[in-house]
Amino acid sequence: MDKYEQLKKIIQESKNMVVFTGAGISVPSGIPDFRSSRGIYSEKYGNYSPEEIISHSFFMNHPDLFYEFYGRKMVYPEAKPNLAHLFFAKLPNVSAVVTQNIDGLHQRAGSKKVFELHGSVLRNYCMKCHKFYDLKEIELLKPTYCSCGGMIKPDVVLYEEPLDSRVVYPAIDAIKEADTLIVIGTSLVVYPAASYLKFFQGKHLVLINKSSTSYDADAELVFNEDVIEVIKRIEKSI
Ligand SMILES: [Zn+2]
Repeated sequence: MDKYEQLKKIIQESKNMVVFTGAGISVPSGIPDFRSSRGIYSEKYGNYSPEEIISHSFFMNHPDLFYEFYGRKMVYPEAKPNLAHLFFAKLPNVSAVVTQNIDGLHQRAGSKKVFELHGSVLRNYCMKCHKFYDLKEIELLKPTYCSCGGMIKPDVVLYEEPLDSRVVYPAIDAIKEADTLIVIGTSLVVYPAASYLKFFQGKHLVLINKSSTSYDADAELVFNEDVIEVIKRIEKSI
C-alpha cells in the first residue's frame, strides 16, 4: 500500500478528524503567503517588514500605510475555495477545521465548524462603538471611519495582539479529541501552530506541506508536495 492509499484508508476510517491549515492551502486559490512579499515592500515602505506593518502599533501609528499593504497583500475578495478546501468541507467525519488563514475560504467551501485563530478579513469593526462592517463596506487601500467617528479595524489578529481565547480553547479541545489530525500548508514555525500539535493525542498525524517541517519525524505520513496534487490522487475513490 503506497502512502496515498494509506492516507485514503486513514480518512475513511477516522471518526473524528481535525484539519489544521496554514497559508499553503490557499496558495492554489491565488492568495500568496504575505511573508513572501518581503522584497517588494521593503523598498516601498521604507524597509518595514510585513511583520512590522501587520502589527498593532504600526496599525495605530500609520493606518494609511497599514491599509495600503493590507488591501494589496492580504485581502483577496475574488479568491475562491479550491479543491482542498472543498474536499475537507464535504467529508462528514471532519469535526473541525482549525486555520491560521484569514481568508474565509473554508467557510465558503461549506465547512461548518471553523476556528479562525487569526480572525477574518471578512469581518471588520469600529474601534469605538464596535459596530461590525462587511468587507464590502470598507475601503481597502485606506482607513474607513464609522459614522461615530471611530476607525474601522479588520477583525484580524495583528502581531503584538493576543489570540482570542474564545477561539483558541475550543480549537485546542477539538485537537485533543481528534483521532486524526491532518496538518496542511504550514511550516509549523509560526506561533501558534507548532504549539498546538502537542495537544493531539489521537492515532494518525498527517503532514502535507511543500517543504519539510521539524515535525515530520513525529508524523505517520508526510507529503512534501502541493496539497492539490495529494487530494487529486485520493479524492476519486472517497
Ligand atoms: Zn463606530
